Formats: sequence, structure tokens, C-alpha cells
Amino acid sequence: MKLSLKKSFTLLIFPIVALIAILCIAVFPSIRNIWSDWGVIVFFLIVSAICIGSLIFFYRKTIRPVLKLKTATSKIGDGDLDAGLNISSENEHGELAQSFNRMTKTLKISRDELESVVRKRTLELTITNEKLLQEISERKRAEEQLQYDAFHDSLTGLPNRALFMDRLAHLLILSKRRLNHPFAVLFLDVDRFKIINDSLGHTVGDQLLIAIGQRLLSSLKPGDTVARFGGDEFAILLEDISDLNNILNVAERIQMEICKPFNMNNFEIFTTASIGLAMNSTDYENPEQILRDADIAMYQAKAKGKSCAVVFEKGMHTMAVELLKLETDLRKAVERNEFVVYYQPVVSSIANCVIGYEALVRWKHPERGLLYPGDFIHIAEETGLIVFIDRFVLREACSQMSKWQRQFPQSALKFISVNISNKQFLQPDLVEYVTGVINETNIDKKSLKIEITENVIIENPEALIEIFSQLRNIGIQLYIDDFGTGYSSLSYLHRLPIDGIKIDRSFIQRIGNKGENHEIIKTIMLLAQDMNVDVIAEGIETENQLASIKTLKCDYWQGFLFFKPVDSEHAEALIKTAPNTNKPADYNLHSQQKKSIISDIASDV
Ligand code: C2E
Ligand code: CA
Ligand code: CA
Repeated sequence: MKLSLKKSFTLLIFPIVALIAILCIAVFPSIRNIWSDWGVIVFFLIVSAICIGSLIFFYRKTIRPVLKLKTATSKIGDGDLDAGLNISSENEHGELAQSFNRMTKTLKISRDELESVVRKRTLELTITNEKLLQEISERKRAEEQLQYDAFHDSLTGLPNRALFMDRLAHLLILSKRRLNHPFAVLFLDVDRFKIINDSLGHTVGDQLLIAIGQRLLSSLKPGDTVARFGGDEFAILLEDISDLNNILNVAERIQMEICKPFNMNNFEIFTTASIGLAMNSTDYENPEQILRDADIAMYQAKAKGKSCAVVFEKGMHTMAVELLKLETDLRKAVERNEFVVYYQPVVSSIANCVIGYEALVRWKHPERGLLYPGDFIHIAEETGLIVFIDRFVLREACSQMSKWQRQFPQSALKFISVNISNKQFLQPDLVEYVTGVINETNIDKKSLKIEITENVIIENPEALIEIFSQLRNIGIQLYIDDFGTGYSSLSYLHRLPIDGIKIDRSFIQRIGNKGENHEIIKTIMLLAQDMNVDVIAEGIETENQLASIKTLKCDYWQGFLFFKPVDSEHAEALIKTAPNTNKPADYNLHSQQKKSIISDIASDV
């Protein structure tokens, strides 16, 4: 039976009534007299027992649950959700305890759920955090890589131009603050690298550049900087140098290292380096100026025949500025068509008359007048403008020759020779272009000779055999120019489909007054006979040279002794002087006319 709270409070009536009865007995002796003393004691004991029982009952039903509730609540308050409330369900507090227990159970479930959610979230957060940390470190790595890439050459791993310039600028500032802080810049260019790259392929070329970078590093002190500027250009920053000799020693050491053979893909590659040196001086305001001077000196080293080191001197700068101006002018000349073709007669040794012309380019410079190839051809080759010039000369010479062929069908003029540079020769559309010019100008193709210098063959023998054959198939003739200067391999020479060679004028000019020193020419003649090709001796300037050449069976002669190169007008005049018969005229017979023509053009040549 459940005892409600209200009922439990009514229980308190028993002790109160008993108390009142005891008090009555005590206060009113008449009542006490009714019972014997034992009766009073018994009554008193019964009443006391009822009182105590009621109080215990009251305590158990009312006070104890409240105390338990209080303890449990405070435990829960302290976070101990396992603290249940153990109160009999037969009590009004029992219901409270049950709902309390339910509540704590719900709370516990919620807490567990909350804990699992928190655990899950914590795990997620930990993972996210780890990912974030990973991302941050990856980004940092990427940034570092970017930073590294921005300042290093991807092929060799060496510092690049940007880093080099930065260090150079820093050193310059340092040296301005502390006067005794000398340093030098070396500009290095690998000689003939293009040939290696073109012939052995870019992979070998790349490997060679890496190997060169390593050799440079190994020949320097740890504090020095080696940078690759791209292509085959390297720059070196030497610190703590005592004097110029010190730098020259380093340059020599570098050259010795680079001279040693490189073993690459079963190829043994030999190369050299041209080095320009510039020492720090108070004149330098910025790092670009030092580098520019080292670069200028390097160009001088190239011009000196490569494989050497040149120290920058002040005069070189003026020269470089002039060179730059020439380059700019040359570009303009191409746009403005400032080139003209001159023709140098070639004399037949058999017919003794002018039998052909060699077309030679001239530049009508607006300020400097008529310029010769020696003044600009090297820049034209370096800048690639030579391709344009050669094409212009070829077209012009062919159209001129075609005109002459139609105008003077009876003349002894049989051919026109045109020079083709290395660059032009390696143009993939060369054969197509030549064919186009022949068709457009309507020149008799048998009368066109193309001259290629011997060096082209040395640099690219295999590729050339194919191009030579194609050109020859068109019907034109091929001559090797400046023969004897390039040390071309005899094995290749025999395989090349050529029609003739031109003995370099240096051999002709070595012939002495008594006809001595013509052994080399003799050997070349024998070789030509063996190869069954024609020979032109060029650069004949004296009667002695001619007399000596006459003893050898040379097909054609060319040189100032006969004619200097003349413009088309004078060349035409010369054709007109020859008799209009199939029998060619002796050039000597026309010496009178020749003299008048020559004196006419003397100022031009
Ligand atoms: P090259 O092909 O060997 O041409 C002959 C050069 O020798 C010409 O010089 C000519 O004037 C010169 N010469 C001829 N006979 C004598 C002589 O008896 N004594 C002396 N001292 N010189 C003589 P030029 O016209 O100054 O041409 C120089 C070089 O420039 C040419 O040498 C040729 O390699 C190159 N060149 C000229 N025109 C062209 C062109 O249209 N294209 C290309 N790629 N190169 C050209
Ligand atoms: Ca020539
Ligand atoms: Ca020549």
C-alpha cells in the first residue's frame, strides 16, 4: 500500500497526541491516580514506542528520500550520472525517484550520445587538422619549390640569371661600402655547342650542359657562384680574388676542365669554352654593367678564335656599341632593301675569257656608303638575317643571269655562282626555295652554281649528303668554297655529290715571286682530279701567281688580276665587249675595254 506524503505527515499526530497525554498525566495527578504506577509506566512505554515508531517511519518515508534525492542531485550536479536514486516505489518519493532515475537515464543517454558526437567531431577535427597541416606543409613545400625554381636552372640545378644578378648586386653594394672587397665576373660560352646539339641530339646536348655545370663547380671554391643563363651560357662570380692573375688562373683551370673529353651515350665529346672576364671597379653602378662587360669580353674571345679567355678593356665597350648599332642598321637594311649584288668575273683557263660571275653582296649603307661582306656578314650570320640576304642575292643573281641569257644568247657567259651560308643551307625549305627561284626567274638551271664553304661539311657531313643530292637533282651545280681551310674529312668529300671546288685564296696568295709554295695547291689539284671535279683558283692578284697556277690544270681563274667585283651595269658592259660568237673572247684581247670598265668602276670597288 502506497503511503502518500500527506498521510506520512498525519503520522506525526501519534507522537503529538502521546506527548499531550504524557503532559496531561504529568500535569494532572488525578489522571495518574487512576492507574497504578505500573500502568503509567506501561502506558508511558507504549506511547513512547508509538512515538519512536512514528518518528522512524516518518524519517524513513519523508526525510530519508529527501536526503537521498539531495545527495543524488548533488552527485549529478558533479557529473556523476551513474548515481541512481534508490527509493522504494511504494512511497510517494518512489515515483519521484523513478522519474528521477528515468531522467538520469535519459541524461546519461544524452550524455553518451553527446560524448560520441563529441568524440566523432573530435576525430573529424583531428583528421581535418592533420589534412590542414599536410596541406600547409605541401603548400610550404610548393612555395619553396617555386622559390627554388624562380632562382635555379631546371636542367643543371645551378643558380639562374635572377639569383646570379641578386648576388652580384649584393656584392657590388658590399664592395662600395668596403673598398677592399674585389670580385670578378666570368662569362662563359661553350664553343660549337650548337653543332653538338644539332648532330647528337638535344638529350646529349642537355647531358653535356649538366656535365659542364658540374665541372665548373668542381673547379671553383665553395663560396663562388656558378649560374646557367640558358643555352650554353654560364656566368661565374669569383669572390675574394687577389689580382688579375688570380682570375686568369681560374679561367685557365676552367678551360682545362672543359677540354677533357665528356663521355656521353657512348660518344666521346670534345669541346672548349670562350671566357670573358670583367673585374669589379668603382665605375660600375649596377650589376648589369659588369655582366655586360664580361659578355663583351666573351665575344672578343670568340672573335679571337674561341677557346680562350679575354679580359674586358674599356675600348671594347665602344666596339660593342658600334656592333649593336650595326645590327640595328642591318635589320633596317633588310626592311628597306638596301642590299645590292656585285658580280666578280670568273675566267675560263681554257677559253681565256670571262665565262661566269660570282654574285657577291654589298650593302648600300645610308650613312657609311658601300659596305663589304666582311663588315656585316658575321652579324648577319649571328642574327640569322643572312637567310634573308642569301635569298635576296640568289633571286637577284638568277633574274639578272636569266636576263643576260636572253639578251646575249651568243655570249660566252656560262654560269653564275651564288654563295649560300651555313644557316641558309640548313633551312628545311632550301631545295623548294631554290626550285621556286629557278622557275620564277626562268634561268637556265645548268648555269646556276651554288658555293658552300668547306666548314659546313665539317659541321654536318651526313645531313649534307642528302641536301646536296636533292640540289643536284634539280640540275644545278655545287661547289665547295674556300677549299683547303676546313680540314674536311676525305671520306666525306668522296661521298659528297659535288661539281667543283674553289681553292681558297690564302693558298694562291702564298705563292711566292718565283712560283714557290704551291705544293698544297698541287695536292688539291690531284685530289680534285681523283674526285673528277672542276677547280677554280680564286684570289689571283699577280702575274706570278697566274703563271704558277697555269702550270697546274686549273679550270677557272678568279681574282683582282682579272677583275674586281662590279655592279650589274658594269658586268653587263663587260659581257657586251665579248664578240657575239660562240668562240669566247680572250680576256686579254679585251684588256683595253676591261681597263676602261675597271677605271670606270675603280671608285666603287
Ligand atoms: P668568297 O665567297 O670567298 O668570295 C670571294 C671574295 O674574295 C670576295 O670578297 C672577293 O671580292 C674577294 N676576292 C676575289 N678576288 C680577290 C683577289 O684577288 N684578292 C683579294 N684580296 N680578294 C679577292 P667579298 O665580296 O668581300 O666577299 C667576302 C666573303 O663574303 C665571300 O667570300 C663570301 O664568303 C661572303 N659573301 C659575299 N657575298 C655573299 C652572299 O651573298 N652570301 C653569303 N652567304 N656570303 C657572301
Ligand atoms: Ca664564294
Ligand atoms: Ca672563297
